[in-house]
Amino acid sequence: MVRPIPGRTPPGLINLYSDTQTKPSRAMREAIMSAEVGDEQRGEDPSVNALCERMADLMGKEAAVFMPSGTMCNEVAVLVHCRPGDEVIGASDCHILGYEGGAPAALAGVLVTPLASVRGQFTPEQVEAGVRFRSRYSPNTRLMTAEQTANMGGGAVWPVAQLNAVAQAAKKHGLATHLDGARLMNAVVASGVAAKEHAAGFDTAWLDFTKGLGAPIGAVLCGSREMIDIAWRWKQRMGGALRQGGIAAAGCLYALDHNIERLAEDHANARALAAGLGQLPGVTAETPETNLVFFDVSGTGMTGDAFCRAMEAEGVRVGAQGPGPGRVRACTHLDISAADIRTALDVAERVVTRARKAA
Ligand SMILES: *Cc1c(COP(=O)(O)O)cnc(C)c1O
Repeated sequence: MVRPIPGRTPPGLINLYSDTQTKPSRAMREAIMSAEVGDEQRGEDPSVNALCERMADLMGKEAAVFMPSGTMCNEVAVLVHCRPGDEVIGASDCHILGYEGGAPAALAGVLVTPLASVRGQFTPEQVEAGVRFRSRYSPNTRLMTAEQTANMGGGAVWPVAQLNAVAQAAKKHGLATHLDGARLMNAVVASGVAAKEHAAGFDTAWLDFTKGLGAPIGAVLCGSREMIDIAWRWKQRMGGALRQGGIAAAGCLYALDHNIERLAEDHANARALAAGLGQLPGVTAETPETNLVFFDVSGTGMTGDAFCRAMEAEGVRVGAQGPGPGRVRACTHLDISAADIRTALDVAERVVTRARKAA
């Protein structure tokens, strides 16, 4: 069964479902309103051009292209690096494999082979073992992808040395490398290491502006000039070329200027939430490294879905994520305050207490 998506957000909801739930702030909307714009498809949108220049510089790459979404960055990158019949390797719970509607198969005609991961991370040895012997019979192992931070890995931050090591292992076997940086700035703020250091081993890397950075639309894919030229052709083919894209890019530029350092607040809120949840009987919480809080409610006798419904009935939205029936995710972001976290913990305590009484 396809899980139903509710038709509207109840007023006053404390929305910890995802960091995509942020609404553009008044100041961001003002930046958007006064954006200089042009025809993006012709390379004449000054706001998009400024954003792409800043992003290429931030990531330490030659060039960048503005995309409507992170999913398009991932899928265009797969198309840039691979030909039909090729193989991509990445963590078993990575976004490309599990959350993009089967696009690697549907659009690029590639297979994705999962690597077992710990908190979304794998080792250089696993990469080397994952590269198939080159023969007429085998798919051509072509691309290695990693996520920084690892979403289903609990928002964990790869140590930069390990990211470099897996990239080197891939390069040694002639693979291309792609960094899914949906939440790269959370990793930058948590680690104190610059984005370009995280991206150094990767041919392509991107950042999402619609997660913790709080913009309504947009992600930017970075790479060599040659790769970005090819990416542009795929963007055009997929209908992703824009006209006055600066309306969206202005929100992203605003986010670069105002919404990065403050991610530290989201991380502090996430730690407080996890600490509070971990004290509830029957709940175990993973220790968050960034803004994602994963916890398991199995010990309360509830499934994750039942827990989410009970929370939502009292005005707090979180999401059942798996794997396993009891694993739940809560995300902190710029529309969530420390007071909201306290309220969410009060609600969780009531929900858990009631469930234990009923059991
Ligand atoms: C959200 C997300 C994406 C997709 O980004 P969209 O902008 O929602 O299309 C890709 N990878 C990871 C790790 C994500 O969390």
